[in-house]
Amino acid sequence: MKELLRKLVGTETTAARGELAAAEIISAELGRSQIESRVDSWGQDRANLVARIKTAGHKGALLFACHLDVVGPGEAKWGHPPFSAAERDGRIYGRGSADMKGGIAAVVTAIRQVVDSGIKLVGDIVLLGAAGEETDSCGAKRFVSAVGGDLPDIAGVVLPEPTDFEVVTGHRGMLWLDVKTFGKAAHGSTPELGVNAIGSMRDLLGELESYKIRVEPHKLLGECSMSVNTIVGGKEINVIPDKCEIGIDIRTLPGQNQQAIVDDFQRIFARLKQKKAEFQASVSIVREVGALETEPACDFVKEFCSAVGVTESKAVGFTTDGPHLVSLGAPVVIFGPGKPEVCHKPDEYIDIADVQKAVEYYKDIILKFLS
Ligand SMILES: [Zn+2]
Repeated sequence: MKELLRKLVGTETTAARGELAAAEIISAELGRSQIESRVDSWGQDRANLVARIKTAGHKGALLFACHLDVVGPGEAKWGHPPFSAAERDGRIYGRGSADMKGGIAAVVTAIRQVVDSGIKLVGDIVLLGAAGEETDSCGAKRFVSAVGGDLPDIAGVVLPEPTDFEVVTGHRGMLWLDVKTFGKAAHGSTPELGVNAIGSMRDLLGELESYKIRVEPHKLLGECSMSVNTIVGGKEINVIPDKCEIGIDIRTLPGQNQQAIVDDFQRIFARLKQKKAEFQASVSIVREVGALETEPACDFVKEFCSAVGVTESKAVGFTTDGPHLVSLGAPVVIFGPGKPEVCHKPDEYIDIADVQKAVEYYKDIILKFLS
């Protein structure tokens, strides 16, 4: 298990590098137990890994849905290089160690151990290692649209994301907006001849300070949040900028109308234009993912909780591929090793003991639902 984990963490699978190498590592690992798998690759080294352990299918299948990609290492300095998979004090350090190569290593090992033991299963195991979860969920979308009639009936979907062994049944959705203000370029020495797009953006940001998205807080998921997280504007220090652009990350609640938020922005633009005729702006959706809301009282969740010895399910702040898999018609549960608070940060790590513990949990889950 540890060697597999180190190989996966040592293989950079950012959006720029693609997931193909990691998919091949997992495929080879499964092959050691004569488990067939398919590496579905496209574009520049993008890839999904799909494996299915077929049975007579007397019970519905379990789908373990992982993602192979990781976010970039970022600008901050790491104590352990991000793709070195350094082992220190019982931990493996590296980008993706917690999110979610620890979960992948545990699931793959659990599946191999069950298959190697010769235990007869009565429902299929399906394993997905998806591309692009951190960017556009291209892998999960491709999996759902490509499988068609090729999948068995799924009884439940398990996402081995880092929940530190909490059973998670809900998370907020995501709406990413790209907002631009437009101006008129002019020489830096004659600002009165141009329209400064950065000035327009300052006015807009001022309005956003007091803007509240109208939605009732959710009992498990809390509030809808909004944060302006990128800004780009201007090209030369002596040119009045004709464009300024911000990226806004909005985390939405179940049932929330995302178009209503876009409409709010249009209203704010209209208000600013009334104050200043030269104000010009546009808003577009970069990415939208719905919220996840699995019924905590459904049989699958109750059985899942009892298999892992947890009394109640929770919600988390981060988003997953879960909402893209809801169309498979099965409840989605998130459960895995690793601390959510170390994800997407420098010196991300996972405790090796937690990954070992996860192997046992996943075996228990497979046996509970499929034997
Ligand atoms: Zn993740």
